[in-house]
Amino acid sequence: MPPEQTTDVLIIGAGPAGTCAALRLLALGHKVALAESEPFPRPQIGESLSPGIRNIFDYLDATDLLTNRNYLHQLNAQVVWETTTPQTVSAAQRGPGVMVDRGQFDKDLLDLAVQRGLQLYQPARFESCKQVDGRWQSQLRQYTQLITVESKFILDARGRRGNNMQDRVLTAPPTIAIWGHLPADVMPADTLVEATEKGWIWGSPTPTRQFRVITFTDPRELKGNTVPGVFHHLLSGTRFFHKAADSWKINDLQTCTVFTYAHTFPWQDNYLRLGEAAFSLDPLSSTGVEKAMRFSLQAAIAVNTILKTGHKDMAQTFYEDRMIESICSHTHWTSAYYAQAWPGQQRAFWKERSVPFIDQTPAPTAFYERLSHKFTAPKEKGPERRINVQQELQRLWHEQIHLSSALIFKETPCVIDDVLQLRTAIQHPNLEREMAYLETVEISPLLSVANKEATFGAIVQEWSKVLPFEQAVRIAFFLWDKDILCTTA
Ligand SMILES: Cc1cc2nc3c(=O)[nH]c(=O)nc-3n(C[C@H](O)[C@H](O)[C@H](O)COP(=O)(O)OP(=O)(O)OC[C@H]3O[C@@H](n4cnc5c(N)ncnc54)[C@H](O)[C@@H]3O)c2cc1C
Repeated sequence: MPPEQTTDVLIIGAGPAGTCAALRLLALGHKVALAESEPFPRPQIGESLSPGIRNIFDYLDATDLLTNRNYLHQLNAQVVWETTTPQTVSAAQRGPGVMVDRGQFDKDLLDLAVQRGLQLYQPARFESCKQVDGRWQSQLRQYTQLITVESKFILDARGRRGNNMQDRVLTAPPTIAIWGHLPADVMPADTLVEATEKGWIWGSPTPTRQFRVITFTDPRELKGNTVPGVFHHLLSGTRFFHKAADSWKINDLQTCTVFTYAHTFPWQDNYLRLGEAAFSLDPLSSTGVEKAMRFSLQAAIAVNTILKTGHKDMAQTFYEDRMIESICSHTHWTSAYYAQAWPGQQRAFWKERSVPFIDQTPAPTAFYERLSHKFTAPKEKGPERRINVQQELQRLWHEQIHLSSALIFKETPCVIDDVLQLRTAIQHPNLEREMAYLETVEISPLLSVANKEATFGAIVQEWSKVLPFEQAVRIAFFLWDKDILCTTA
């Protein structure tokens, strides 16, 4: 039977990951269809959005969606973490995060994508797919009807429910989340975060005028205990939540096991995974939505590159590198943050989460090998010198400079005009990742000058022929600070 619709890209799932990819691919001129199984708005956990979300909305030309309705901005936070004494972190210090109603937020984004040309099937459940002559044929079930959609790409953004556990590897120990709501007027109007001996607790007013409390603890706590029992035990004795424990209505509670994982073959034959279908993050940072959307923007560039230039290998490498980078940087941040909490290393919950963790898999894939290698590699830390530019410039001006022997030049995919192109990047132990550009300036041509016998001043002067003097000085100091430009003495 011929397909009902032919499109460039079929996206499965209209969470932030799927819809963000749709918006970007539509803006890049592609034909996009999306299947979402639930009618919207549907309930969804994950309403506290980190400040970085704003750049993404500006980039998608969707800024208005964050400013409307009852969303809560400028929430201060009260935190018990490194010590048992509460600290206040002002809204200005926290950055411009926002507390949204996820049902409404996801619906607004999806409506915008439809306005911009998305072909939407909703409610329509993705059931299966097969490859026919290098293209995907997918079966969607809409009520009793089966619809066939043919596409060059499938972007699977089905969230946590979308994949088999055996195709994932855990990147943190599992945690149990238990949550419920109180009337907002019995709790403070701030976000509350508290470390306890057996886990941590997060609470916040919500746009629906309630106060949401979520506890995170080890699944072993449930052995021989009930969910309400564990929840109450975690809240009682805390600084911020003990009153909530007393006034709680038990029937309100919900729970889920929070697995933090990576898919072990996220890209196969033009079938790519996005958002929590690709990887999930420990909820500690409240950056799940931001990271999911950011990764979708990167995946959209990879797809656009193949559709416009056919450079498949480069696109897949770029997609996988960005995914590995996102998982590793988040895991290192999270474990360091767990390590700072006051209960300390003698408590099993905190000890197990204070070091980066990656599980073994019975069937290691090439992607898993790359991920686990990067995971266990010691995190390089560059020098952190405080630089007085005026003084240092005078001191270094006549110093002879050479390039670090640890510096490697490497061809790497860079985003140029929305497609990937190979550029020469530098790789060095003091850089967290390969770097082709600094302040939008291509670095490798600059370093060819520094490769010859030259003083610091001569290098700055040479670069000043093509850059403003102040920028040449900034770049020279950045590279000197990282020990990439080295003084000979
Ligand atoms: C307890 C907990 C607390 C969290 N708190 C935060 C937080 O405070 N801040 C934050 O940023 N993140 C938080 N997160 C993470 C956040 O919820 C996720 O990062 C985010 O929802 C991922 O978006 P997504 O688009 O990948 O998936 P989802 O939002 O889950 O969307 C997937 C969509 O796919 C659809 N779907 C599934 N199967 C099919 C199918 N077969 N056919 C068609 N459609 C299908 C689903 O209906 C759904 O709409 C939290 C997570 C947990 C577990």
